[in-house]
Amino acid sequence: MSVADLLDVLKRGRKVAVLTGAGISAESGIPTFRGKDGLWNRFDPAQLATYEAFLKDPKLVWKWYLWRMHLIANARPNPGHYAVAKMEELFPDFLLITQNVDGLHREAGSRRLVELHGNIFRGKCRFCGKEYSEEEFSQLWPLAGRDFLSSISEEELKGQVFDEIDRGNLPRCLNCGEIVGPGVVWFGESLPEDALSRAFSFASSCDILFSVGTSAVVQPAASIPLYAKRSGAVIVEVNPEETPLSPYCDFVFRGSASQVLPQIVSSLEGS
Ligand SMILES: [Zn+2]
Repeated sequence: MSVADLLDVLKRGRKVAVLTGAGISAESGIPTFRGKDGLWNRFDPAQLATYEAFLKDPKLVWKWYLWRMHLIANARPNPGHYAVAKMEELFPDFLLITQNVDGLHREAGSRRLVELHGNIFRGKCRFCGKEYSEEEFSQLWPLAGRDFLSSISEEELKGQVFDEIDRGNLPRCLNCGEIVGPGVVWFGESLPEDALSRAFSFASSCDILFSVGTSAVVQPAASIPLYAKRSGAVIVEVNPEETPLSPYCDFVFRGSASQVLPQIVSSLEGS
């Protein structure tokens, strides 16, 4: 089905949800999870992004996260992110639900959003539970600041910054003195309950749900579109490849977010 067919549905819809995954950020140069960087080839991300790994070797885990944060700090939102931000202006009732931790949606201007897996520039102490906003965390540990990371080269990161970590420069919690970890959801951790309930309650009453750049396999996010479908929503998939969700979709666009979403937005604006 075409953008024109979808337009008729969109004109009638008032409550719109957009669920995004790694695919939309891949177009900004952010590797889905495992980068091509030789430095990390011998590590399994599933064994670095865990509480156990952090307890065993916080220096290694923080180096890996700073390396990813450095990539993200130097990335820019793409037309897909900007189109999603524009949709927020076009629909009176709107919620963006993202599985991405890179904050690029926010940078593109999205404000009504739920970050299901947290945000990589925030801090979280697993020992006492204290959470740090991006600003608080960069004050606590300037090495993790977005501005600092975007100002240095990869060589400087792997040189001076990693040396500092080896010498014991790690973020210490203001509350309990233990080492603070990144503000993301690790393997084996549950998703923040407030974010989850906001996402599911919106999905259960929306008219239209877009599933964008997500493989629709990682639970519990993967069940959000099905939840919306059962409640009567029209489901639109934007993904270059077929996913387990595809058979349940009313509209399928086999393209990337940055190709498809700006088209949809501009025809909406022109209608
Ligand atoms: Zn603490």
